[in-house]
Parts: sequence; C-alpha cells; structure tokens
Amino acid sequence: MPKSIYMDYQATTPMDPKVFEAMRPYFLEHFGNAASRTHAFGWKAEEAVQKARETFASALDANAKEVVFTSGATEANNLAIKGAVDACDAKQKHVITVATEHKAVLDVCTELENKGVRITRLGVNTNGLLDLESLQNAITDDTVLVSVMHANNEIGVVQPISEIGAICREKSILFHTDAAQSFGKLPLTWSSSNADLISISGHKVYGPKGIGALLIRRTKPRIQLAAQMVGGGHERGLRSGTLPVPLIVGLAEAAQLAISERDTEATRLSGLRNHLLQRLTSELTHIRVNGTMEHRLPGNLNISFGYVEGEALLMGLENVAVSSGSACTSDTLAPSYVLKAIGVPDALAHSAIRFGIGRYTTMDEIDDTATRIVESVGRLRGLSPLWEMAQQGLAPDSVVWTPSE
Ligand SMILES: *Cc1c(COP(=O)(O)O)cnc(C)c1O
Repeated sequence: MPKSIYMDYQATTPMDPKVFEAMRPYFLEHFGNAASRTHAFGWKAEEAVQKARETFASALDANAKEVVFTSGATEANNLAIKGAVDACDAKQKHVITVATEHKAVLDVCTELENKGVRITRLGVNTNGLLDLESLQNAITDDTVLVSVMHANNEIGVVQPISEIGAICREKSILFHTDAAQSFGKLPLTWSSSNADLISISGHKVYGPKGIGALLIRRTKPRIQLAAQMVGGGHERGLRSGTLPVPLIVGLAEAAQLAISERDTEATRLSGLRNHLLQRLTSELTHIRVNGTMEHRLPGNLNISFGYVEGEALLMGLENVAVSSGSACTSDTLAPSYVLKAIGVPDALAHSAIRFGIGRYTTMDEIDDTATRIVESVGRLRGLSPLWEMAQQGLAPDSVVWTPSE
C-alpha cells in the first residue's frame, strides 16, 4: 500500500516534536495549579505561564498583559465578538462581518442577530477579497465592531486587514481579526494589522489542540470586553478556568518556532505549492483555481476539476489526505459556502479540492500527489459521458477555465 500523504494543513497540523518536549515536564513533574499561591508547585506553574505569555506576546509584538489564553480560536472569536458587543451599552448595535468567515465567527453573529443585534455580512469579489468601498458603505453610527479574518481556511485568500483596520480606527469602530490561519505564516503584529482584537489557534501552527488566545489591545485604544466565561477570575477576569499550563507552554514554543522560520518557510511552501499547480495545469485541462493566487497563504491551493465528482476524486486518492469543497463544513454534501460566495458554480464547488501544504511536506509528496490526481481525474473523466460530449464540443461549457484574479 502506498504511504499516506498528509496534505490538509489548514484543517490541523501535526505537533512539532520540540513542542511536545517542551510540554512534557508540565504534565508529569511541574503539574501545579498556576493559581496556587501557597507552595512551590503553584509558583513553578505560574512562572512557566508567565514566561510563555511573554514569549507568545513577543511573537506578535504585543505586551504579555494583552494575552488571554482560551481553548482555541473558536473561543477567542466568541470572546472577542460577544465580549465587545456585551461591553457596549448602546441601544442599537451593529456588527459587520464577511460571508467567507469561519463558522466560529458566522455562528456567533447569527446568535447575536437572534438577540437583536443588526448584522451585515458583506460579500466578496470573485477573487475572494473584500471590497473596501463596500465596507465603508456598510458602516453606520451604530456599528460597534467589524470582524474580518486575516487568511481564509478554505481558499487561503489574505484580506487587506491593515487597510480594513485603518478604516475602523478612523471611525472609532473596533476591529477584530480571526488570524487562526495566518499566525506564524504571515507577518502579524498590532501595527501590521491595525486590529484591536486578534484570535489565534495553537493546532494550526504545530502546537497542541485545545489552546489558543485572544489578543486584546491595551493602548491606543484600550479595549474593554465583557467576560463570557466566569468562575474564579483567571486571565484578569476575562476567562475563568484553571490554566492548562502544558498547553500554554506548548503554544509559546510553537509560536517561537513558527516565527523564527516564518519567512524561509513561506518561500519553501509557496515553491512547493506553485510546483503542484504547475504540474496540474500542464497535465490537465478544465481545472480552475479558486481564489486569487496573488494574496494567498503560501501553503494553500484550492482547485476545481471540471467533469469529475469531488467525492469520487477523494476516494480515488485514498492515501492522500486532502479536503473537498463539499465535505469540509458539515456532514452534509452542501457545496462550500466560501466557494459559493466567490461565485463558483455548484458543480465546480463539489469538485473542489483543498491542498494544505506545511512544515513536513516534501517535494516527493507533491509530485506523488500530482501524479495520483492526474491519474484519478483522467480515469474519472474517461467514465463521464459529459466529458466525452465536451471533448466533441457538444456539452455547454460556460465556465471560465482560468485562475480567478
Ligand atoms: C481552525 C480555525 C478556527 C477554529 O480554531 P480552533 O482553535 O480549532 O477552535 C477558527 N477560524 C479559522 C480561520 C480557523 O482556520
């Protein structure tokens, strides 16, 4: 049986063994509760948390006091958005977000909408990018918060968050960005993002699952949030619960590793990614890249293969772990709402494959994947009457088979 290839790094990443080693003593020896003030077990844990908090904050050019550890980016998004809305005592409240956000933002907004908050979900262009003018036009006197992700988890498209943040700053509106996919991969600081609130996830950057953070700006301006989890007053009252010391140590180690290799790794990953794209475009016709290639995570490629079924293609690729344009949001086979939002027709959304390339991906794996895809697509098209008709010019073909720009 051929060796399995993991190419789903936007879903999760394997933990770096160095991260695991850094965490190990905090499971076994230094197991104290960081809130225990009366003995050395507690002091040791508290010391590790403080050091990790500083290391993690410095990876973002932030202050340690601006970090609130959470269980992941989902919780960070909940705290940022609900926390900001709850802390605002205006009668009419309005939140602006984007149709291609992660469910951890969209579902939070829907919950707020059901409680009377007005929500605007902006569309994006066919390249996946938010149009700044439509953002400007959506802002009203009631707007409390704008939430726009940094990099998209399906199509890897990178939003112009610095410009978005500048627009919000000028109007004194809070700006939150879900940076789960971009942290450790793209430059990200307070000043590069102009954000007030930044969500981060450990398991997307070779850290452990079950840990993340919300960064909350303390100066210019100082952001106030209402806690969403109470019971002990940990994290300056913003997120109660005994601190998971090993996970926090792991997150800091993962952050440090990612930042130190960020730029060289980005170059390597985009090289691998471009090689994969080059092979697929030279060996297959009727394929389409979803989302702009110009503003994109280095390790992401999302491609629709005309005249094949995504699920059938995935089955044919048994030993390559990728995700499809239909299965990744739920158990149902509804086409991805992200692909729909950029105008991909249903049939092509169903045949979309997301390739997530990361730290342990090799050129051999890329070539192997390309070979298997080309084979599989060829085989499936050979069985398709529509493909045969298209070859003879008999099938309607209104799709533009060029990368979106
Ligand atoms: C993975 C992901 C999340 C959820 O993060 P968890 O840490 O798993 O809760 C949120 N937003 C984006 C963009 C993601 O990619």
